[in-house]
Amino acid sequence: MLSVLLVAISLLISLLVAAGIRTIAIRSANTPTGTSPKAPIPGLPDADLAAKHLAEAVSFPTVTHRQWKHDDKEPFLGLHRFLAETYPLVHTKLEQLDAGALNLVYRWKGSDSSLEPALLLAHQDVVPASDAAEWLYPPFSYQVHDGFVYGRGSFDAKGQMIALYEALEALLTAGHMPRRTWYIAFGCDEEVRGTEGAAKIARYFDSTGIRFAFVLDEGGVVASGFMPGIEWPIAVVGIAEKGDANIRITCTRDGGHSSTPDNPTALGILGAAIWRLESGRQAPVITTPVRMMLRTLGLHASFPLAVLLLNLWLFKPLVLLLFSANPTMNALVRSTCTVTMAHGSDAPNVVAKQAEAMVNVRLLPEKSTDRTYRWMAKRIRDKRVTMEVVADAVRSKVSRLDGNSFANLSEAIRTTFPQTIPTPYLMTGGTDALWYEQLSDHVFRFTPANMDNGELKRMHSRDERFSIGNLGKAMEFYMTLITQDSLSV
Ligand SMILES: [Zn+2]
Repeated sequence: MLSVLLVAISLLISLLVAAGIRTIAIRSANTPTGTSPKAPIPGLPDADLAAKHLAEAVSFPTVTHRQWKHDDKEPFLGLHRFLAETYPLVHTKLEQLDAGALNLVYRWKGSDSSLEPALLLAHQDVVPASDAAEWLYPPFSYQVHDGFVYGRGSFDAKGQMIALYEALEALLTAGHMPRRTWYIAFGCDEEVRGTEGAAKIARYFDSTGIRFAFVLDEGGVVASGFMPGIEWPIAVVGIAEKGDANIRITCTRDGGHSSTPDNPTALGILGAAIWRLESGRQAPVITTPVRMMLRTLGLHASFPLAVLLLNLWLFKPLVLLLFSANPTMNALVRSTCTVTMAHGSDAPNVVAKQAEAMVNVRLLPEKSTDRTYRWMAKRIRDKRVTMEVVADAVRSKVSRLDGNSFANLSEAIRTTFPQTIPTPYLMTGGTDALWYEQLSDHVFRFTPANMDNGELKRMHSRDERFSIGNLGKAMEFYMTLITQDSLSV
């Protein structure tokens, strides 16, 4: 017995030693790149003035909702007029293209037609603010306080949109001539799946045969305190996003009067099915974007954590256990199911003849809705409950990191946010970028702003805001990206 124990202990020690040696070897072969020595960009716009422009842009309630059919165009048209007045050079020196609906698309012609163009994105629309009375300041009004622009859309994504306009106007004022051709597009309905916005713009580009060297949309941010053991801020760049599907589950029974119930009711059976769904989780998978993220973090983490992250061959179960403990991290390694809507009868004294619930499914990249459908059926295991896919997911493809695109983007991030580590990762939410994946192998999702959890929680919620400091950083980032690209291609 003792000898078995001794063999087990010595085996464990040898594995740990092997992992340690391997970690040192990987880290010495991939010396982390330091901060960029580049000089700051000249001619940066005044951030306080830009904040005023952002506050004005926020005051146009460009809200989209599920049944939105362009019925209220006026806020969008008002925003367009404001942008044309505020950024005259963008609207006279760049070519404005008609990609349908309320979309805004520009083309800035470069001097070297042998280079593939690039595409920069943000969106004009915002989610509603139904709890407006509870906001610190009215969500659709001009509000600049204590270094922040407040209001719906100030962060998602008008902050990014205004930063782009400011950067373009400043570069045009300075007489900058890009080598590469740049396209800039702002869709009108990102918050409701982008079918009028990004989908139409992407079709327009596709019909003209344009392919992009890279596409950059909103996405991950610069986060500090991302993980204990990593002291530097991390810039997470989405290289794929999770798929978004809806599956309806339904139970049909005899209805009747609530005074003479025949339990279980349709709603009771459905409730039990929901409980069984929620008490299980699909098997975890480390997909390519997460594997790449773990490797980048491993190169920069303190030693014990680095051994863990760089030796998945040994520590994968432990890493998955750590991810599973936190809902945000768990979503990176699992396809998830969330029950979001339910309906029974329309009156308190009527037993529902039919009860139904909607399950929102978020799929890991390269995984199909079918797989989750089968998992759900197994969990529910009740023939009285039927299932129907009402909206299937568009599957995101994982962007490539080879070539100059990701390297140039990382360089612009390091120049603008010194001491920051750019890393690939998986977006758990959806973006317009999905629609452009057919037009480029290099589609990235990154919002150039410093954000902690407290700030992120305001997005799509109460008291959304964007700091003037972040607005300055975002402008600097875009100017760096556009001018550096002209130097280094
Ligand atoms: Zn957004």
